[in-house]
Amino acid sequence: MRFGPLIDQLMEAFRCLPGVGPRSAQRMTLHLLERDRAGGGHLAQVLLRALACVGRCERCRNLSETALCPICSSMRRDAATLCVVETPADVLAIEQAGGYSGLYFVLLGRLSPIDGIGPEELGLEQLLRRVDDEGIREVILATNPTAEGEATAYFITERLRGSRVTVSRIAHGVPLGGELEYVDGGTLLHALQGRKPL
Ligand code: ZN
Repeated sequence: MRFGPLIDQLMEAFRCLPGVGPRSAQRMTLHLLERDRAGGGHLAQVLLRALACVGRCERCRNLSETALCPICSSMRRDAATLCVVETPADVLAIEQAGGYSGLYFVLLGRLSPIDGIGPEELGLEQLLRRVDDEGIREVILATNPTAEGEATAYFITERLRGSRVTVSRIAHGVPLGGELEYVDGGTLLHALQGRKPL
């Protein structure tokens, strides 16, 4: 049966969320309309504000509400160490694991010629400029241990060859084919501490 075009539209809209199929979308829609209209209104307002106000940090490309994100503007971080990750979720995972105090560079993807994602899309020139300009002494490549993540790490290593920076790759503990975002804090911390120079 059909409730009406707006309700259908709302159900369809929820499906832009990861892991939400038709049944979950239906449940969420009915829940908001039946039981929590205030919550739905709040969600709509905060979502619109976040979409309007959250951009990218101009230095590390992480999601940020200010031109420089809190990590980049912190005086307490080790500014000579740069950890390269694929996504903002990876930054969160490493921060939540604790024990890393350097800065980040967020690629917002990984090399994938099939999808048209090359060095330019990943901001690799910006990354190389930072390494040159900011006196970075170590670059930790924390891309995912997937084929594309490895290819991305290899590409960056090649581009940094010959510069004076130490390049290391996170090693132990991260499952092959896995995604950093889903690795528990202890394992991730171990992987970071057990990095090897490349
Ligand atoms: Zn930043």
